Amino acid sequence: MLRGQMVCTGVVRARYTCGIVEGFDVAIVGGGPAGACCAAFCARAGLRTLVLERERFPREKVCGDCINPAAEPVFERLQIAERLRTLPHGKLQRIDFVAIGGRTVSVELPEGAEIAVKRSLFDHLLVTRAAELGAIVSEETTVTAITPPAGSSQHWRITAGRVNHAARILVAADGRNSTVARLLGLLPKFQHERIGLQAHVPLPTDFGERVVLQFRREGYSGQAPIGNAELNLCLVSNAAGIKSLRAWSEKEFKLSREQTWRTITPLRRTALRPAQNRLFLVGDAARVVEPFTGEGIFYALRSGEIAAASIATLVNGADALATAQTYAAAHEQLYRGRLWVNRLARTAVLSPRITSALLRTSLLPRSLLRVLTAKIVS
Ligand SMILES: Cc1cc2nc3c(=O)[nH]c(=O)nc-3n(C[C@H](O)[C@H](O)[C@H](O)COP(=O)(O)OP(=O)(O)OC[C@H]3O[C@@H](n4cnc5c(N)ncnc54)[C@H](O)[C@@H]3O)c2cc1C
Repeated sequence: MLRGQMVCTGVVRARYTCGIVEGFDVAIVGGGPAGACCAAFCARAGLRTLVLERERFPREKVCGDCINPAAEPVFERLQIAERLRTLPHGKLQRIDFVAIGGRTVSVELPEGAEIAVKRSLFDHLLVTRAAELGAIVSEETTVTAITPPAGSSQHWRITAGRVNHAARILVAADGRNSTVARLLGLLPKFQHERIGLQAHVPLPTDFGERVVLQFRREGYSGQAPIGNAELNLCLVSNAAGIKSLRAWSEKEFKLSREQTWRTITPLRRTALRPAQNRLFLVGDAARVVEPFTGEGIFYALRSGEIAAASIATLVNGADALATAQTYAAAHEQLYRGRLWVNRLARTAVLSPRITSALLRTSLLPRSLLRVLTAKIVS
């Protein structure tokens, strides 16, 4: 057990002194959807599982809060589908694509398919489930250094403050700016990239059960109701345009200048090799997708789940390099056939004027948008 810990509903709020905490099969850095899901499946497979998470849950996060229905089978396997439905949420019946100038093309979503839930609630549910299944979740624990194992019988050493954790297998689930990848020299230098801003604001009257993807000259805005009369509002632009996009949103949604915004960058990054010898990368740490498609959480959950299956075989004696290859192949398969939608979405959002012109002139027919939407929410 951890020294000086405070246990709170199965989750550890770390109050460390110092020392080495040993004996874990797997240490997972990051308790977002990828890390919590991976932890839940590892713990259920009987592995001694540790999650190290910088924040204290529940916490918000820059996200559109939309849960892609493709994730439903994962919720069933985690046995949280019912609990998820009882959380405050917004129902989404259609997507409105709004061109610069206002022309709107609507595409219906399958009945009851997509919902939007605040990440504070969603991520807390996942991490609670991981703890229920036996994972030790250490919150307010920021990983600052990693020492790779010196030999095949050695452990990874993961340092958080003055405490060193030891584990046979390491999972990077710490998001697009992955500390693990950076500390191990795997993270490429970022190019100048777009910035995402997000806020929860009062839901405008008669907003309806819809997602709005609205093109602006500076970039785009995503809007979705999330229950309890709140709206998730996201803005995406480059450094030059984000101020003016924010000014537009303050006027459009009658926000005060004091409105709190969460921020993140980059939105695009080179994909990393998802596995090496006893190291697994899951979720955004391995590969990010264009936020516009609203698929990131699905990929995070599924990659966490398939990594857990590989980790269990590894702990049970499988060859480390063969297991890394198996996971890398399954990871590739997860994205195969869907990345063209991601590329198309990125092209569309990087050229809002052209996309708007296509929407205005019906050169981007509703049937094509329907096909793309069906591909994303299938
Ligand atoms: C503007 C925007 C809108 C989006 N909208 C949607 C959407 O509507 N639907 C959708 O499915 N996806 C959306 N996404 C993508 C989605 O947010 C991500 O794909 C998803 O959060 C990835 O989950 P993850 O678990 O991999 O990483 P994260 O959710 O980023 O979790 C990583 C965790 O690691 C922790 N961490 C980081 N560093 C450390 C450290 N050093 N030590 C310990 N812990 C650490 C963090 O605190 C965090 O809790 C959007 C993204 C953006 C930017």
